[in-house]
Amino acid sequence: MNIICQLCKKVIETPDYGDGVLDMSDVYEYRGFTFHETCFDEGSRAVERKRAEVITETKASLESQANGEWLNGGYKNMNTDPHTGKPLVKHPKEPQKLTDYENGIL
Ligand SMILES: [Zn+2]
Repeated sequence: MNIICQLCKKVIETPDYGDGVLDMSDVYEYRGFTFHETCFDEGSRAVERKRAEVITETKASLESQANGEWLNGGYKNMNTDPHTGKPLVKHPKEPQKLTDYENGIL
């Protein structure tokens, strides 16, 4: 199994000294993303930026999906948010950015 650094996209060495156990001491992890030690600072900042982006885009995407469904006749049967009165999409399509983020890809 190759572990990839999500900043430089190169393999992080995880030597196996013959006992079947990988030496993970060069793998640095932040919120499920893996980095080299030297890539960690920049990488963890990139994760925070991506996280903020994903949250904003997912929210916008869900809203636009809900509004689209609503305008296409969904107003007849869609549930609405009890707090905002906005329509709630039944089977939301997940933005690719969110899927990537969940899979540890920056
Ligand atoms: Zn790296």
